[in-house]
Amino acid sequence: STVHDVHINEMIEDVVGLSAQSASYSKVVIDTKIQKDMPSVRMSQTEMQQVLLNLINNALDAMNKKGGTIDISSWSENKHVIIEVSDDGPGIPGANLARIFDPFFTTKPVGKGTGLGLSICYGIIKRMNGEIDVNSVVDKGTTFRIRIPLS
Ligand code: ADP
Ligand code: MG
Repeated sequence: STVHDVHINEMIEDVVGLSAQSASYSKVVIDTKIQKDMPSVRMSQTEMQQVLLNLINNALDAMNKKGGTIDISSWSENKHVIIEVSDDGPGIPGANLARIFDPFFTTKPVGKGTGLGLSICYGIIKRMNGEIDVNSVVDKGTTFRIRIPLS
C-alpha cells in the first residue's frame, strides 16, 4: 500500500474516532497523550491504522465490557517515533506472553479470534524497520510499544 508523509497525531485521532462506538459499547474511555509538533513519518497510513485498530480491539476484547481506560501516547526520541497503546485490563499471563505474536495463537473462543491480529501487526512494523513489544502485568494491564525510525 502507498507510502506517504503521515501526520502521526492526526492518524491517531482518526483511529480513536473509528473506535469511539465500540469503546463506548465496552464502557471504555480512550485517552490520548500526544506530543505536539510530532515529525511526520513516511509510512503506509492504512497499515499503521490497521496496527493501532488491532491493538485497540484486542484491549477492548480483554476488558470484556467491564469498562476501563485505553491510553494512547505518542512522542519522538532519538530519531524514532514511539506510539504506545496501554490498557488497564486483565493483563497477559506470563506463559502466554512469549506466544502472542505467533500466528494462530489466540485465547478467544473458536469463531471469535483468529490469532492473526498481532502476527500481522508484527509483520507490518518489521517491514517499516520498526519494533513492537509488549509489557503486561496480570490484573494491572498491558502496554504495547511501537518504535518506528524516522526514515
Ligand atoms: P486474536 O485477537 O484473534 O485472539 P491476536 O493475535 O490479536 O489474536 O491476539 C492474540 C492473543 O493475545 C489474544 O487472544 C489475547 O489472549 C492476547 N492479547 C492481545 N492483546 C491483549 C490485551 N490488550 N490484553 C490481554 N490479552 C491480550
Ligand atoms: Mg486480535
